[in-house]
Parts: sequence; C-alpha cells; structure tokens
Amino acid sequence: MTKQIVSSKAREDKASHDKEFFTPLDIKTLKKIIEIVGEDSVLDSYEDRLKFSRDRLPFTTFHLRAGTVTEALPSAVVKPRTEDELINVLAVANKSNIAVIAYGAGSGVLGGALPVCGEIIINLENFLGLPKIDQENRMVTVSSAFNGGELEKLLNEEGYTCGHHPQSLHISTVGGWVACRGAGQMSSRYGKIEDMVLGVRALLPEGKVVDIKPVSRRSVGPGILDFLIGSEGTIGILTQVTLKIWKLPEVRLPAVVAFPSLAAGLTAMREIMQADLRPSVARLYDAQESKEKAHKDDDLSVNPIMCILEFVGSRKLANTEFELGLEICARHGAIKLSNQSYEKWQKVRFESYSAEFIAKGGYVETIEITGLWTKIPVLYEEIKSKINELDERIYFGAHWSHIYSEGSCQYMTFRIPNIGDEDLALKLHLEIWKITQTIALKHAASIAHHHGAGVFRNPWIEEELGGGLEIIKATKRGLDPNNILNPGKLGLPARPGSVLPTDSMT
Ligand SMILES: Cc1cc2nc3c(=O)[nH]c(=O)nc-3n(C[C@H](O)[C@H](O)[C@H](O)COP(=O)(O)OP(=O)(O)OC[C@H]3O[C@@H](n4cnc5c(N)ncnc54)[C@H](O)[C@@H]3O)c2cc1C
Repeated sequence: MTKQIVSSKAREDKASHDKEFFTPLDIKTLKKIIEIVGEDSVLDSYEDRLKFSRDRLPFTTFHLRAGTVTEALPSAVVKPRTEDELINVLAVANKSNIAVIAYGAGSGVLGGALPVCGEIIINLENFLGLPKIDQENRMVTVSSAFNGGELEKLLNEEGYTCGHHPQSLHISTVGGWVACRGAGQMSSRYGKIEDMVLGVRALLPEGKVVDIKPVSRRSVGPGILDFLIGSEGTIGILTQVTLKIWKLPEVRLPAVVAFPSLAAGLTAMREIMQADLRPSVARLYDAQESKEKAHKDDDLSVNPIMCILEFVGSRKLANTEFELGLEICARHGAIKLSNQSYEKWQKVRFESYSAEFIAKGGYVETIEITGLWTKIPVLYEEIKSKINELDERIYFGAHWSHIYSEGSCQYMTFRIPNIGDEDLALKLHLEIWKITQTIALKHAASIAHHHGAGVFRNPWIEEELGGGLEIIKATKRGLDPNNILNPGKLGLPARPGSVLPTDSMT
C-alpha cells in the first residue's frame, strides 16, 4: 500500500513513513530473485533502498530539505550480471506483479528513475563488458551501463571521440543518454544522441530480446530505434548500444566574440548553421549570463552579449569554417575578445555548482526548451518577464548552446535565493515550471530539448506530442500488459496507489 503525505512533515517522520508504506520485497519474491542473481546482487536494507529512492530531480531535493515527503522507496535493488539473469528477473517481476526501473547512474533531472510505487531498481552497474571499437565502420558497441567519461577516455586512447559530452559526462551512463534522448555540449557539430545511435539491444517488458543491428539507414517500416531512444525505461531495458564515433580532431580553433545585442547574436547563430558550418561549440549567453561567464579582463560594457565558439577538424577545413563563422559574427557587429572565457569554460564544463547554492538554502532549477528561430526572442522575453512578475528575487539567465538550422535550445537557469520561507519557495519553484512549459507550448516550442520528460513533465506531455501520446500508450499497453516497466513516467499511466511528485502540482 502506498500513500502520500501532502502537508509539511518533520524530516524525522520520513523514515517511519517509508517503513510503513514502502515495504521491502516479500520473502517469496526475494528468494526467487536471489536464486537468479545470487544474494550479493540483491540489496534490500532500508539504507540501500533509501539510496536509490531519488535521482537528481531538484523538486525532491528541495522537499527533502523542507522535510516534506514526496518520494517512495524501491522495494529492492537488484544487480543482474547477464542478459539471462535480467530476463529471469523480468519474468519474476511480471509474475509477482511488481514494477521495475532500469537505473543508469541516477543523474537524470526529471525523476525518470524515481520510484513511485515500490518498484525493484534494476541497477545495471554489473552489466559490463569492454566496448568494441569498429574503426573501419566508425562505431563503438558498448554496454548500456558504461560510464560516459570512461567511454570517452577509452576512445580518446584509440584516437577517437564519441562526440557526446553532456555536462554530466562523468556521472551518467550510455544507456541513460539514450533513454533520455540527451545532448552533449558539441551537439551543433556531432548531433544529439538520437543522431548517433546506430543500433541497440534491449529487453522488452516480458523479457523478449530486441536487437536492432547497426546500419547507416534503412527503409523498413517506422524507426524502431525511436521507440527506444527517449523511452526512459518505459518500453524496454537497453543492454547494449552502438554509437557513431569520430576521429579526434587535428585542430581546435576557439574564439570568443561579443555582440551589441541579443538579436544580433541570435541572428549570427542562425546564419552560422544555415551556412552549413558545424561549430563544435557555439554558446551564446544573454547579458546576465555573459557577465558571469566572461573572464574578468574582458570588457562587455559596449557589446554585452558574449558567445564562445570553437571549430574543429582537419586544419584546412576547420580554418575555413572558423573564418566564415567569424565573418558572419562580424557582419552582426561582433567584436573579438580574448580566449580567456573559452579557457574558463573548458575548465568547468563538466562541473555543477548547484549543490553549493542549494546547501545555502537556495533553489536552483534548469529548464531547456526548443524553439524555432522566429520564436526564440518571444520565448526569451515572455518567460523572463513572467518570472520577474512572479517574484523579483528570482534569478533568470539563459543561453543557446545547441543550435540548428531551424532553431535552437533555450537553456534557462532559475535561482531562488534563501528567502526564509520554504513553503513559498516550493510554490515559486512549481510556478517557474508552469510558466516555462506553458509559454513553450503557446509558442509551438518543445517543452524539452535534452533532459527528457521523466515524471516531472507529465502534465504537459499530451499537448507536447499533439496526439502522439496515444501511440506510445498503445505500444506500452501491447508490450507491457502488466505495466511493470517504469510506470507513471513519460505521461504514461501510473499503477494504483503510486506517489507521483506531480500530484502536488494540481
Ligand atoms: C549536473 C548535471 C548536468 C547535466 N547535464 C546534462 C547535459 O549536458 N546533457 C544532457 O543530455 N543531460 C544532462 N543531465 C541530465 C542527465 O545526466 C542525463 O539525462 C543522463 O543521460 C542520465 O543518465 P543516467 O545514466 O544517470 O540515467 P538515470 O538517471 O539512471 O536514468 C534516467 C532515465 O533513463 C532510464 N534508463 C537508464 N538506463 C537505462 C537503460 N539501460 N535502459 C532503459 N532505460 C534506462 C531510467 O529508467 C530513467 O528513466 C545533467 C544532469 C546533471 C545532474
């Protein structure tokens, strides 16, 4: 039985709440699972279950600090080593009617790996093998649980890169990248993860293997890969992924420029992509973020909008792209700054400072949406002004660092300082979400560019997908009749009695 405590509760009540409402696996099921994976690969102590009760969804972090219970405990954590073990665990889960969640590294920020109904966490960390690099066909086949940073290191040693460098590179897995439809910092050159996946091997909810072989293109029905890329563990558990790889570039050519206005900067970004240039880095900051990201020696008093660019590749080609890119910037009034802001960014690009701010009692949230170029100015101005109207104390900053020919991701950071009123701060945090997602939908933007939907974007998914959610729902019903794979996520039905963080939004 599960139940949500809706009012503010003291933090010390949490343990007794969890113990009462989210019990460990029943002995019979536990024994069956131990028979499959061995005793060492099953964790069911309260402490272990607590450890896997959250991912990096800021909402739960804030509620935990405020002493409000929002999350449920998993009933156990299971670590299969092989596909056969995983197939057998899924059989037990189906038979015992217990839901499961595939867990990568828990760095997801939308609550995709958050237990909501006493699920078994399938921790894939023992499910490893050495990645196989295929140099001639320029691809790597890797276990889904492989750590992103480890993969990149291994590829670099052989002279390659995977081209996918999220800020969370070192704290996320390849399976998590694919499951969340993620984006790396070099997406404007190498693409998003969905542009890189050539093949996958996955287990469907009832244990059937799906093995989509890696080929460049096919013309055989709709893209099956797309049912798994971005499915956030609701349709299948990815066990292996084949990704494109690239030769490490011969040269890296960075430049930092400053534009006289945001409009000029956005136009230059659009023209760079529409001229078929492929910057490995293109980071345009609004005035607020420019001030924070610029090196202290750089002067932004006349041109307040900073942009970091980098072109890579063979020397000749990169030089040409670099020159053309800078010509476009100059045409829109950009002046060249020193490369110190680029170097500063390079040093911290895999770090996050949210924890420090949160530790001081503040709230930090980041929300990424995708708009067409014609809509980006209104998306920016309207969200900024509504946030300011909501509460002047809320910090708002934005940048555009995943740019395309037709539009861009708008990545926004919101900070609520320690205002000494947790209830108000929690309400403001929810309002920030409602404002951004509603304005995105109003201007035909996507509510998410790369963090995925998890559980927290549930209220807006139906409208986002324009009728397409029915296709996912029908697929889910057909493949997962017992609704055991990560129920309640991605706008899909939850199991009865689930505790969803979004319950408090309505
Ligand atoms: C500081 C920070 C910076 C970040 N920066 C970026 C960024 O630049 N770009 C970006 O795209 N994201 C970013 N993220 C978000 C997050 O890191 C990504 O979503 C990442 O891809 C999640 O990977 P994970 O292995 O941690 O997955 P988890 O958090 O463990 O899981 C996420 C979802 O994927 C599912 N899943 C995981 N593994 C599998 C599998 N093998 N099969 C099926 N489903 C699976 C889970 O069930 C869950 O629904 C950031 C997060 C943090 C905390």
